[in-house]
Amino acid sequence: MDTVGASVEQELAALRERIDAHNYRYYVLDAPDISDAEYDHLYRQLVALEAAYPLFVTPDSPTQRVGAKAAGRFPTVRHEMPLFSLNNAFTREELDEFHERVLKLANRDQVTYAVELKIDGLAISLTYQSGLLSLGATRGDGAEGEDVTLNLRTIRSLPLRLRQVEGQPLPDWMNPCGEVYMPKAAFEQLNAEQAAKGDKIFANPRNAAAGSLRQLDPQITAGRQLDMFIYSGHVRGGLPFHTHGEMLDYFRQLGLRVSPYVDICHTMDEVWAVCEKWRTEGRHLPFAIDGVVIKVNELALQQELGFTAKFPRWAIAFKFPPEEAITRVRDIVLQVGRTGAVTPVAELEPVFLAGSTVARATLHNREEMLRKDIRIGDHVLIRKAAEIIPEVIRVLPEKRTGTEILFTYPDACPTCHSPLQPDERSPLILCINWNCPDRLKGRLSHFVSRNAMDIEGFGDVLIEQLVDTGRVKDIADLLGLTRSDLLALERIGEKSADNLLAAMTTKKQNVPLGRFLFALGIRHVGKEVALLLAEAFPSLESLQQASSEQLTAIHGIGQQIAESVINFFADPATPEVFAKFHQAGLTLLLPIPGEAVAGPLSGQSFVITGTLDTMGRNEAAAELEKLGGSVKDTISKKITCVIVGKNPGSKLEKAEKLGLQILDEAAFLAMIRGYA
Ligand SMILES: [Zn+2]
Repeated sequence: MDTVGASVEQELAALRERIDAHNYRYYVLDAPDISDAEYDHLYRQLVALEAAYPLFVTPDSPTQRVGAKAAGRFPTVRHEMPLFSLNNAFTREELDEFHERVLKLANRDQVTYAVELKIDGLAISLTYQSGLLSLGATRGDGAEGEDVTLNLRTIRSLPLRLRQVEGQPLPDWMNPCGEVYMPKAAFEQLNAEQAAKGDKIFANPRNAAAGSLRQLDPQITAGRQLDMFIYSGHVRGGLPFHTHGEMLDYFRQLGLRVSPYVDICHTMDEVWAVCEKWRTEGRHLPFAIDGVVIKVNELALQQELGFTAKFPRWAIAFKFPPEEAITRVRDIVLQVGRTGAVTPVAELEPVFLAGSTVARATLHNREEMLRKDIRIGDHVLIRKAAEIIPEVIRVLPEKRTGTEILFTYPDACPTCHSPLQPDERSPLILCINWNCPDRLKGRLSHFVSRNAMDIEGFGDVLIEQLVDTGRVKDIADLLGLTRSDLLALERIGEKSADNLLAAMTTKKQNVPLGRFLFALGIRHVGKEVALLLAEAFPSLESLQQASSEQLTAIHGIGQQIAESVINFFADPATPEVFAKFHQAGLTLLLPIPGEAVAGPLSGQSFVITGTLDTMGRNEAAAELEKLGGSVKDTISKKITCVIVGKNPGSKLEKAEKLGLQILDEAAFLAMIRGYA
């Protein structure tokens, strides 16, 4: 072999290796370390080089398969219909070339296209047999994926049973495909909760969706508010449609969630107008998109055009350039969260990016900052796609002048000056002073938040004032605030003081134990864990005395949570805080078996069936118990009323047979609000 050939071969091998490594990080680890634009660039380099030297294309080249290996934690399933990926276009010229190819192959002068959003999520394949969802799998490498049926079933917009379309039998077998994604609002909320618990922050909604779908415990997935759009599929037997647009309508009729944003275009100018529209307006959508997909609308023509070795000839993805910008790091500062995590934040020279001015970017933790070698004064490439948190992708070392300063972590907390400690189990650095003012402020805003004590009116500014003036030294002090305490603050008038007091008075009585435990802000004790603890330990005292073995015996509670709970109760400050809560008039609603609380629903019994949109089952039960009602598991003639959420199952049928009173979620909410 000549030397040119040998060096090309080496170059190809090196490129493949790099792409494989990035594929692994992206698909298997959900932790990409280069931007999509950089990845696309590498990939195109490989495609171009292989096109020039086709003899050197190896069967294991990344261009020769659809994706990467599945992570392997779930059973592997072979897709009955392989999932394909799409060829990409980045410019109008490339779209026009695609169109010309289609016209030529089809031997026509006009073709109609369906133009859809390219949702930034995870591709999923579903199987419905006789109308019932029998399998849901991730794309994996396109031929084989992971069976995540149990997790997919938790997505509320995904029908477990298809609706019957009038005058048509349900197909024996069908295979709709779509994209699972996390809406932006859910993503923000999840990251706020993760940060509050001191857990991993997700870089973007796609990673968050992938991480959520790969949870081994479907309970966790269920809490992640995933959603899904169906965008293609196969139906066995006669098809009641002829175009892609009609197929989507048919799917929608069957009860599958289909994107409302599909345009049927007759010219490339129309197609381009849609691409341009979403490139500029896409950021206003409630979910992230990274492009637009253009498909030949006529299904017979799709079939005629067929596939290349890799891609369908009848579709192409127009990918938006990710919004990236270069700016300078002015400073690196530390932020102390309520769990004590001290995280570095880059203060940037303000730059306009993806619809807003960005002046700060999180650097996540010390390890991440060191890995990317980010220094004060550095020029950095930052990215903010349709996502919310701007992130630093990498430093531009070629712009260094030698004046950049390495940020060194101080030994002491920047706020309370107590010594910092590395966390044993994560890359986080912690301020371990429970009374650190920054931590206290974080704990207070968590304490009053909607899912915790739900006390309205205590915004960040007020909390800051309360802590800075020394009126509130721990969370219990908040409930002990008097009218004159509040009036002594700037900008608090008589009316707002009364409103705050009224809000506290109603919310500090009969607090369900689970809610209170969550409100305390114990590290690693999120909403679900708090409910588990409250179920297993019916009183605060019994929980206080629980041993590590007793705690870890609860399904869903591991060593880390158990340690954190024990440390919390062992803290010398805790008894004092509880004494103050007691003094402030806080009462807990403790479920005593057989002894219901007296209230407007005393003597009435309820069954809750199906999934409620606004609250979990435990929470709904707590609301009823708070009003004196009792909550049962089984339907009988003695039940006063059945509360019915989504997918209620056989209990509803039974209740209907017995002629019991039935309330839907709206009516249930109206009832409990009526008594509040
Ligand atoms: Zn501190």
